[in-house]
Amino acid sequence: MHRRNFLGGLAISLSACAPKIRKVATSPGLPPYGGLPELMPIRSQVDRIFRVTVCLRPFRAAGPRLDVERVGQKTVVHNYGHGGSGWSLSWGSSSIAVEKAMATGERDVAVIGCGALGLTSAILLQRAGAKVTIYAKERPPDVRSARATGTWSPDSRVALTNSVSPDFPAVWERMCRYSFHTYESYLGMAGNPVEWTDRYILSDLSPTEMEPNRDRHETLDFAQYEHRITDLTPRDQALPPGSHPFPTRYAWRTSSLTFNIASYTRQLVTDFLVEGGTIKRAEFHSPSELNQVAERVVINATGYGARALWKDESIVPVRGQLAWLIPQPEVNYGLFYKNVGVLARRDGIVVQDVGKGDMEGYNDSNEEPNRGAAESAVRVVGELYERMTRAGRLPQSG
Ligand SMILES: Cc1cc2nc3c(=O)[nH]c(=O)nc-3n(C[C@H](O)[C@H](O)[C@H](O)COP(=O)(O)OP(=O)(O)OC[C@H]3O[C@@H](n4cnc5c(N)ncnc54)[C@H](O)[C@@H]3O)c2cc1C
Repeated sequence: MHRRNFLGGLAISLSACAPKIRKVATSPGLPPYGGLPELMPIRSQVDRIFRVTVCLRPFRAAGPRLDVERVGQKTVVHNYGHGGSGWSLSWGSSSIAVEKAMATGERDVAVIGCGALGLTSAILLQRAGAKVTIYAKERPPDVRSARATGTWSPDSRVALTNSVSPDFPAVWERMCRYSFHTYESYLGMAGNPVEWTDRYILSDLSPTEMEPNRDRHETLDFAQYEHRITDLTPRDQALPPGSHPFPTRYAWRTSSLTFNIASYTRQLVTDFLVEGGTIKRAEFHSPSELNQVAERVVINATGYGARALWKDESIVPVRGQLAWLIPQPEVNYGLFYKNVGVLARRDGIVVQDVGKGDMEGYNDSNEEPNRGAAESAVRVVGELYERMTRAGRLPQSG
């Protein structure tokens, strides 16, 4: 099992109903305040899949590109290439890009791109006093960012350890902390754009027994910086047998941020428009076409699109597919079981096979959904609940 994949690939939306905490007696081995809420089953059946989506992570071995370039009359500040961490790092990365754009002294700024990085760049530019126009081929919900899992995963496929500059780990930490604290300001809002949820890692193997399986897939040396931010989220907590309803020999619990991307992107777009921002539909085929925009300073937040636009072949596509199950308001947790991650969001329960860990989908630019693979992942989760039913551990779905 890849622990990082669970932490980095899952998110759970809180139920509209407040979770009921079980009495202490039903959670042996856990402290009085640590009992599990009643966990309603996920209806993981293939006929409840309402769509299957694919997204390409814009991975760069050197990490996101944030340098400044002169193109004809324009100053271009790059802000692309965030791999599997684009939502998580968005505010922090964009704050760096905005600092560079504002340092030019210009106050009319263009942003190319309307995904996670374009929207956060545009909002931070406004907060810094700029007048902003977004130019983009697509806007939400059609951008790739809208097809992400929606969890706090700041070092998921963000770089390779030996390909980054020496200062990158510190820059990453700065981006990470800035983003995390900005996300705090979206908690508790109508529509729950951002919320904290519990996730459970389930396994029939102990961590020692998992070891031989860990490296069965050839893998690259993906950078891992979690240890730099251990103060931000709780540690994994081993759940003693009898303290949880799961049928597996081992279970761990943690909590993390969930991004309910449908309401969150709507909130971002609304915030931008309310502040007087403009979104124009435009497609650029080469850097020289940026001369068509009136603004002299441009933030380039084109994500995977930068590979073609900027001919940046250092961007490697990392394909990821989600099967979307009909949302269940009563389900308020996430799971990782047999290399399948589940994330119960308000706008759908997303199920993802992460079988090859960080290498899953690496260098695969196929954006066609694979229905068969989606169904297999959903069946794995269904099998977990069948085990729970046989063990008599399942509460009735409301
Ligand atoms: C399956 C999957 C799950 C993921 N889960 C998470 C997660 O849980 N948490 C997390 O933090 N990250 C996650 N990611 C990563 C995240 O989705 C990306 O890092 C992020 O979406 C990148 O955002 P972006 O704004 O750079 O790009 P995009 O969302 O692709 O936006 C690019 C914008 O630029 C525009 N554009 C591109 N080219 C041109 C052009 N030539 N002319 C004009 N406009 C152009 C596009 O139309 C679009 O508006 C996941 C990725 C995948 C694939």
